[in-house]
Amino acid sequence: MSKDTFSLKEMRNYKFRIYPDKEQEQNLTKWLEACRVIYNSALADRKNHYYRNGKGLTRIKQQVILKADKEKHDQVKAIHSQVAQEVLFRVERAFNNFFRRVKAGVKPGYPRYKGPGQYKSITYTQYGEGLGASFQNGTLKLSKIGLVKIIVHREIYGEIKTCTIKKEQSGKWYAVLAVEEYPVLYSPNCQAIGIDVGIKEFATLSNGETISNPKHLVKSEKKLKTLQRSVFRKKKGSKNRIKAKKRLARHHEKVRNQRKDFHHRVSSQLAWKYGKIAVEDLQIQNMVKNHNLAKSITDAGWGEFVSMLSYKAESAGREVTKVIPHGTSQQCSRCGNIVKKDLSVRTHVCSYCGLVLDRDHNAAINILYKAKAS
Ligand SMILES: [Zn+2]
Repeated sequence: MSKDTFSLKEMRNYKFRIYPDKEQEQNLTKWLEACRVIYNSALADRKNHYYRNGKGLTRIKQQVILKADKEKHDQVKAIHSQVAQEVLFRVERAFNNFFRRVKAGVKPGYPRYKGPGQYKSITYTQYGEGLGASFQNGTLKLSKIGLVKIIVHREIYGEIKTCTIKKEQSGKWYAVLAVEEYPVLYSPNCQAIGIDVGIKEFATLSNGETISNPKHLVKSEKKLKTLQRSVFRKKKGSKNRIKAKKRLARHHEKVRNQRKDFHHRVSSQLAWKYGKIAVEDLQIQNMVKNHNLAKSITDAGWGEFVSMLSYKAESAGREVTKVIPHGTSQQCSRCGNIVKKDLSVRTHVCSYCGLVLDRDHNAAINILYKAKAS
């Protein structure tokens, strides 16, 4: 992406477990099978058409054929029209990929027919009230299927565009929502900012703003510690310990997702807002010493966050500078003298120039200065 044309919009998939009841599951299974038939016949039609006429069949023409088929076949008629139409997009994609491979001179692999059980998902191409799929009081409303129980375990940040219902090998059902992230306003004045990583707050900026960890993440991280303890309390090799370990692993995954989500959101916002971003290079410090567990966890997350921030900022033509954090919390950001304080002292009080500032705010300003000097 160049500086002038970068897109403010990012698409992301959110996957949630759903629990269709017996009847819904039967219907969804029927739909999968009907979609498989539509897919295979659309594939055959394209092939035959090419064989007879020497040219391909377009999706638009196939839509007309599908409409006519709908009147003849009850299974097709039973499916929501968006879901049936979407199958044709998949066929089109398969052919486009095939032609791209031919053009590139790699092994093309002609689009294949799908055998029983090989067609695994269906897609509602429109999301929203009165459209194919929507949320209604915490349940997922699928047109012509009904209200389906869904577990939304992470916050959705953006506008839902499509909803894909998927059956996995395990027999579990999932909804995959394609979400267009909310654009964050791009600030043309390209201010520079320094960011200090914290323990209590996620980060403090050199302009004094703080970014807090979201409440649901804090809660989940607390639960993680409880689950960790519960594993150690169970007897080694026991069934209960195995169970507890599984529970822990599942929750760990959840926390990871929540944290990643939060990092995505914050890094997007910072990357669009600021032209020059200065952060601490914590890997260097880690090599020196790290005895504080809480801090080391924070630092591990920080590394992930910084790499996200870097690629987003760089793709928008912005600059991220990593500085060695040594001394950033001890030095006075106004007069430059060293004011010694341990981690428990939360306020910087300078006896030389009289500056009184939140400890992390002072550090963030120093980080910004260091980046400017480097
Ligand atoms: Zn001072």
